[in-house]
Amino acid sequence: MKILIIGTGLSGGCIARLLKDRNHDVKLIEKQRIIGGLCFTKISPNGIKYEPYGVHVFHSGNPKIIKFITKFDKFNGYVHKRGLIINGKLFPLPLTKESLYWFENKDQIFQELQNRSSEIDNTNFETACISIFGETLYQYYIKNYSMKMWGMDPKKLTAEWVPKRLELREKEDESYFGSEWQGLPKNGYTFLINQIIKGIPVKLNTFIHNPEDYDIVVSSAPLDDIMQLKFGKLEYRSLKFDYKINEIWESQYMGTINLPQHPKYIRKCNFKIPHKQKSPQNWIQYQEPAATNKDNLPMYPISTKENQYLFNRYLKEVCKTKNICPIGRLGLYKYLDMDKVIEIAFDMLPIIENYLNSSPEERYNNINEIRNKY
Ligand SMILES: Cc1cc2nc3c(=O)[nH]c(=O)nc-3n(C[C@H](O)[C@H](O)[C@H](O)COP(=O)(O)OP(=O)(O)OC[C@H]3O[C@@H](n4cnc5c(N)ncnc54)[C@H](O)[C@@H]3O)c2cc1C
Repeated sequence: MKILIIGTGLSGGCIARLLKDRNHDVKLIEKQRIIGGLCFTKISPNGIKYEPYGVHVFHSGNPKIIKFITKFDKFNGYVHKRGLIINGKLFPLPLTKESLYWFENKDQIFQELQNRSSEIDNTNFETACISIFGETLYQYYIKNYSMKMWGMDPKKLTAEWVPKRLELREKEDESYFGSEWQGLPKNGYTFLINQIIKGIPVKLNTFIHNPEDYDIVVSSAPLDDIMQLKFGKLEYRSLKFDYKINEIWESQYMGTINLPQHPKYIRKCNFKIPHKQKSPQNWIQYQEPAATNKDNLPMYPISTKENQYLFNRYLKEVCKTKNICPIGRLGLYKYLDMDKVIEIAFDMLPIIENYLNSSPEERYNNINEIRNKY
């Protein structure tokens, strides 16, 4: 089949590779002047590798995904550790029950944890967090962070990803991602994606496509854009970045530190730690949440009930088109990590190959089933 893939991020790159290896005639287009989407590595002015869209640690518990991704570069074995600063003190992230003894009002915190119900209250993001952490910890490290991150009251967000992203551990674990295989590509993400799409034609700086010229168009672009904003805009959140070179870094091992109480930034990353680079200097990135605009890329789908409803309308509509199939974080409007967008690319293969023979209902059910799996 003649297939056009929109977007050269990890989703577009991986689905292009998988389809090309099944002998389809594949072409990629990308609206930016560079490939990679959010997975993009550069060298800082002081010689340190870094990701301009935030440190990206690849992690997976799935042998099929590990086998696939390690064909394209060696990984550096970095085990991600994160921290958070509360009232000037550094804590591990996820918080552990052991670390709670360092809080001034620990008695109150333990009391609230003891009084929790065994069921998570999924009414909204705030109720779900309070049922896991109790009111005091929620106020300390989640509420302000989330208001900055999403630019809205956490009560307006759904509880969709709370159990997958937020936890309170019994004691300090080896890493942020538990026991999953993890690391960064030794040559960076831009190299990795270039290797993935090797031999596949790419046209950069290109938005316009003519879907009729192809059997199938697989799109990792924002779904509302692809549907010409027919039902209105889906909301995404973005980040802006500032850099510091020689500021002191609080830990030898933590690549990222969350700043829930900072008035502007949500977290900071010191890239020489995840890239395992030896340098007397640091290259520290501060991340400030922002609305999307022509400079700030869409990065995070904002999970409110209204957005979920709108996405669902768009998904039904795209399934009625002759040949457009959405994938990826922006196409499926879901907060997905890199391993998951690759798993989805594998899962989508049979759906894409049968797309022209499927009814709109079958397409919708198949895509929704995959989306809900992750
Ligand atoms: C700050 C941050 C940190 C992260 N850290 C991690 C981490 O540590 N570990 C992890 O596993 N995951 C992490 N992620 C998630 C990871 O970035 C995503 O899973 C992954 O990049 C999604 O790839 P994608 O191809 O679906 O989307 P994208 O990377 O967004 O790619 C979409 C591509 O489509 C292009 N495009 C859009 N519209 C059009 C159009 N109309 N025409 C042509 N091209 C178009 C875009 O320019 C872009 O290149 C992080 C994400 C963020 C924002």
